[in-house]
Amino acid sequence: MTDRLMAWAEQNNIKMKLVPVEYIRAMPADLERFRNETELDTRQHNALHSNINNIGKIPKKTRSVLIAACSYAADAGGDNHIIAEMKAAGYTCRKGVGLPLKRIAVQSGLADYGRNNITYVLGMGSRLQLESFLTDMLCETAEWREPVMAPMCEKCTLCLDNCPTGAQRKDRFLLDSLKCKKCWTCSTCCPMNAAFL
Ligand code: SF4
Ligand code: SF4
Repeated sequence: MTDRLMAWAEQNNIKMKLVPVEYIRAMPADLERFRNETELDTRQHNALHSNINNIGKIPKKTRSVLIAACSYAADAGGDNHIIAEMKAAGYTCRKGVGLPLKRIAVQSGLADYGRNNITYVLGMGSRLQLESFLTDMLCETAEWREPVMAPMCEKCTLCLDNCPTGAQRKDRFLLDSLKCKKCWTCSTCCPMNAAFL
């Protein structure tokens, strides 16, 4: 990323990671395995199918993927600013469409998964918007880890205990999205959000 873009992101509490596009192009094998090994409801199954298809549509000239986390309070024009800054520095840049943003954010080290399957970013909590950008900026290597749960969740079950609908289950990581009423109790009771809500 350019120095100017990084300085602007710092000022606006926007966190970003750049990863080689090859990491993203390799994701469908893992996503397929996950789909085959996990009990999914129809919505989750369709979302994964769509993610896999959209990864296949990433243009050939793409060299890297920028993943950005923007707090709800940040300037709504952040996406356009990122694209404009990248273009001003001589790179192509466009928004990614239909990529598995949470998983990319976690694997890149930008975010951690909570037990509630929400993503948390250091210094931001979970009240954030994730976006991806496809660029031709060269990025040969970057952090890329297994999609693990945040260390704080190991000894905590607050979100699980407080879910009013049973959408969170002890026996699996993914929510039952058909039971989830989007009440966000699991988010507001979470200690990782204590400083941000
Ligand atoms: S409430 Fe506890 S277990 Fe749930 S996401 Fe937050 S820290 Fe993790
Ligand atoms: S949003 Fe509400 S219903 Fe959905 S998982 Fe969280 S607590 Fe449960």
